[in-house]
Amino acid sequence: MYRVMTEEEMLEGFEAAIADEQFYVCYQPQINHMSGRIVGAEALIRWKSPEFGVQFPGDFIPVLERNNLIYRADLFVFEAVCRMIRKCLDEGISIVPISVNMSRYDIIDHDYVGDIEKIRKKYNVPIKLLRIEITESTAIGGSSLMMSILDRLHVCGYMVEMDDFGSGYSSLNILKDLDVDVIKLDMSFLSENVGGRGGVIISSMVQMTKWLNTPVIAEGVETVEQADYMQSLGCNYIQGYLYSKPVPEEEFLKLMQKMDQEPIKPAISIAKGMGAGSFWDPDSFETLIFNDFVGAAAIFSYEDGKVEILRVNKKYLEEVGMNLTEQEVLNSNPWDNHSENSRKIYEDTMLRAIESGEEESCEHWRHIHSRCCGDDHICVRAHIRMIGNAGKQYIMYARIRNITKEKRLFNAVVDSEKRFRYASEQANVYAWEYDIAKREMHPCFRCMRDLGLPMLVKNYPEPAIEMGIFPPDYADMYRDWHRQLEQGVEKLEAVIPLTVGRVPFIVRYTTEFDENGKPYKAYGSATLVVDNPV
Ligand code: C2E
Ligand code: CA
Ligand code: CA
Repeated sequence: MYRVMTEEEMLEGFEAAIADEQFYVCYQPQINHMSGRIVGAEALIRWKSPEFGVQFPGDFIPVLERNNLIYRADLFVFEAVCRMIRKCLDEGISIVPISVNMSRYDIIDHDYVGDIEKIRKKYNVPIKLLRIEITESTAIGGSSLMMSILDRLHVCGYMVEMDDFGSGYSSLNILKDLDVDVIKLDMSFLSENVGGRGGVIISSMVQMTKWLNTPVIAEGVETVEQADYMQSLGCNYIQGYLYSKPVPEEEFLKLMQKMDQEPIKPAISIAKGMGAGSFWDPDSFETLIFNDFVGAAAIFSYEDGKVEILRVNKKYLEEVGMNLTEQEVLNSNPWDNHSENSRKIYEDTMLRAIESGEEESCEHWRHIHSRCCGDDHICVRAHIRMIGNAGKQYIMYARIRNITKEKRLFNAVVDSEKRFRYASEQANVYAWEYDIAKREMHPCFRCMRDLGLPMLVKNYPEPAIEMGIFPPDYADMYRDWHRQLEQGVEKLEAVIPLTVGRVPFIVRYTTEFDENGKPYKAYGSATLVVDNPV
């Protein structure tokens, strides 16, 4: 009678199953949904017992894992795959890379990498035709064992796939720690409702992988809607019943030969003029250009108001100054460095760049914090351009120039112009400039001539009070004005009888604020009251 075997029956039958080839391998193709080409296939173990019929991996794999037999089974699959590839190579059949599953138990008390390498060499299979699938749960906890296995696989030259990504708890952390080459997303998260909650999870998963520029294979894709949805997210690689169930070797080889082949590539679509995702490859031509030819530049992603810096070049760090490290820049939330106003300027420019597809520019002030230099404000001119997008996520490129010095100089010119205007516009006006932080007063020429003030009056307003310019009954009020200036009052005005003659003047202060909104200068004036109030 065909039925699911009990654990005892499985353990009893295991040796015979290996020897009699009750175990065999099925292959499920992986397809680029956009081009229709085949990019690879996954090898999946099958057990057909003459007595109990087909057993499902979901039933027998856990039994083999519990009983320390999975290693034999996995090496059996690996060898079957190598044998098949060898056959193809010998017969001149062009073959795609095959993914083989590694159980997390395979690395405990076994020399997994050493053993598969022996098998690979026995069949003389080029390493680029083999990929190893590890599961997220194997990698959880940043297991140092897993990391060292991953390193060894990479040193040998294997491509490594992260299977069932997103099914575990700490997906993002794992991606940061483990440098895998391909990520497999299980569509069971998506269930039936494309665009529903499952859709949100899937799309954010795909985005996370985009940041790492790691290609994604969507697994378990059963419908065209699901495949189209994944494609709309920029994820084109599909493995699922939509294209084919896992099929026995012979059938797979027939199917594969009917199809065009292509290799798996990183997923971000880079806009016109920019080479494919090689921005992330430290040895690429694009990286060389990025570092050596383009000046200070950054690449960042933008989606729904959220910005994440992905790369900055050396000149960017130099331009911003403050001795920042690349890591400090990447770890910071860029919006934290912007006031509401400057964020709006920057975001509007970015949206314009997305809309127009052209370079758009803006100037804005940023707050910079570095562990070694503390805090500063800098004025930045940015030229922003979109270089690619994946769905609603945009990849942006910004060239920047630190124009703080020019900007301050410019402001100073505006200041002196303003001073000149104040002084010349009004006759009978005494004007002065008050440096709030230093409590220094710079009088106009008329003040110096008529009132005998020096070019710079320190500890203002005390000397003016002492000299009797401000009469004693107004001294406290006038002192209080200067406290208010320090606190950021914008305007002050009163009629004050000045000098020993107690001639009434309208005395005014207008405060100037720096880019932080801190008061730094006040312009004072005293205008003769022509119509003497009675
Ligand atoms: P997996 O590695 O995630 O393999 C994908 C599973 O999804 C396969 O189930 C495949 O048949 C199934 N599948 C593919 N497309 C679709 C689809 O469109 N819809 C649905 N509902 N399912 C689809 P399978 O072959 O039953 O394998 C189950 C699991 O058993 C595998 O999950 C893997 O964890 C394990 N397994 C299979 N072969 C091996 C092996 O050789 N070694 C080890 N260690 N584990 C294996
Ligand atoms: Ca797998
Ligand atoms: Ca899977």
